[in-house]
Amino acid sequence: MKVGIIGAGLAGLSAAARLAVSGHEVTVFEQALAPGGKAASLSAAGYRFDTGPSLLTMPEVVDELFACAGRRREDYLRFLPLEEICRYVFDDGTQLSAFHDKEAFSSELERVLGESPQALERYFRYCARLNRIAGDLFMQNSLHEVSTYTKPKILQSLMQLWRLDLFRSMDQAHRAFFRNPRTTQLFNRYATYNGSSPYQVPATLNIIPAVEYLGGAYAVAGGIHALPRAMEKLSRELGVSFKYGTPVRRIIFENAGGTRRVLGLETESEEFRADIVISNLDVIGTYRDLLGDIDAPLYKRYQNLEPSSSGMVFLFGMGASFSQLSHHNIFFSADYPAEFRSLFEELRCPADPTVYVNVGCKSTPSDAPKGKENWFVLLNAPRDAGQDWEAERRRMRAAVLSRLSSALGADIEQLIEYESGFNPPDIEKNTGAAYGSLYGISSNTKLAAFLRHPNRSRRYKGLFFCGGSAHPGGGMPLAVLSGAITAGLVNGAD
Ligand SMILES: Cc1cc2nc3c(=O)[nH]c(=O)nc-3n(C[C@H](O)[C@H](O)[C@H](O)COP(=O)(O)OP(=O)(O)OC[C@H]3O[C@@H](n4cnc5c(N)ncnc54)[C@H](O)[C@@H]3O)c2cc1C
Repeated sequence: MKVGIIGAGLAGLSAAARLAVSGHEVTVFEQALAPGGKAASLSAAGYRFDTGPSLLTMPEVVDELFACAGRRREDYLRFLPLEEICRYVFDDGTQLSAFHDKEAFSSELERVLGESPQALERYFRYCARLNRIAGDLFMQNSLHEVSTYTKPKILQSLMQLWRLDLFRSMDQAHRAFFRNPRTTQLFNRYATYNGSSPYQVPATLNIIPAVEYLGGAYAVAGGIHALPRAMEKLSRELGVSFKYGTPVRRIIFENAGGTRRVLGLETESEEFRADIVISNLDVIGTYRDLLGDIDAPLYKRYQNLEPSSSGMVFLFGMGASFSQLSHHNIFFSADYPAEFRSLFEELRCPADPTVYVNVGCKSTPSDAPKGKENWFVLLNAPRDAGQDWEAERRRMRAAVLSRLSSALGADIEQLIEYESGFNPPDIEKNTGAAYGSLYGISSNTKLAAFLRHPNRSRRYKGLFFCGGSAHPGGGMPLAVLSGAITAGLVNGAD
């Protein structure tokens, strides 16, 4: 079949490669000049920055993509396992390293926060159980196809749904496991991995620490942007065509007696006829801008679902290097509940933000000149609701510089040789993410996993959705899986 894919984000690339393997004729239309979507790259003044994701988990989903094409991922891309997953600095200066090695992490938690090794052991067992019960069900399958519910493994999971800790919040669960509030703050942070609040998100989402600590966290040699580049190379080898700098203006469909069927898509310069169209862009933008269908029930439903949080990014080319910094560093705020109230209720950047600093050159030295560092600084930010972003940015820049200067014992502003960055509306402008949300809808309700947009449209025959705003949600591994689920459904639709 002839397939048109709108968007070369990770999900679009994953679907493209898989469908080419299955013998389909695939063309990807991308408005930007390069693949990757949110996983983009910027080079300036001798520095290179990843401008989106910085931490990779579940590398096996990428391996599986290459394997399904009969290739070895190692021949395209090198993953670098991180021994020290993240270095944490609390507001009183307490420092702690989260190691991948369980023993090392356990003794660090005991030494720094007085947490018993048994508490961590119990917690990891509990996270692993959640992952065992729900991981496959939610991440590897469509939740909207009857066939999913006939698989024995899925039926087993469904019978254990009551063990998924749906009725406590992530924060409540952590407070029950750990005695030190700082340990709770550390593990509560995982709610931000899908743009949610630990005080609202069901404890089921403690699957995320299981994935990171038990499966490991990775950097990518050459930076995260090397991942979409490698996926694009694989897709091209399999025969996929790419059209960059080519925004899709419209999805073409016919409506015969109430049955809508997709016929192709339209760009500024061509009308492309296709049997199947896959949208890798945001669900809201697909209905509103490409289908002109704001009456679609799913569009209306999405309008009423809470978007995930966004991010404010500062890219600093630093004229010095800092041994105090690891690859991933978190400088926590003093009052975590207040930070999330700001983000989700007041829709303002927090007065005292948690600051994340990723130093890419720690794993890819060529990303900064010798003796210097490329800092990607990310703050959780509310979704775009028309705030005065320039004012918010000035406030946040001052907070970042003050926090990092005191934590690192240096006048950070004086050392900045290159600076750029972006705000939530830029994320929407550059990638189409509604409200600048990083991960589609938030998981702040118990049913969020079931409310994400299905990968197959019931309203338009031949139309499919993949990507962070569709099932199973955002984050790099889930986006790659979203492409896999979608490709499976297209193949089933043959
Ligand atoms: C700042 C930031 C930090 C993040 N950190 C992490 C992290 O550490 N770990 C992690 O796992 N995830 C992280 N994420 C989330 C992760 O990047 C995303 O979930 C994932 O990359 C989304 O992939 P996607 O397939 O949904 O497509 P997207 O990346 O959203 O790509 C969609 C593509 O569609 C294109 N497009 C849009 N409209 C059109 C049109 N009309 N015509 C043609 N093309 C169009 C866009 O240009 C874009 O290339 C982060 C995201 C951001 C922004």
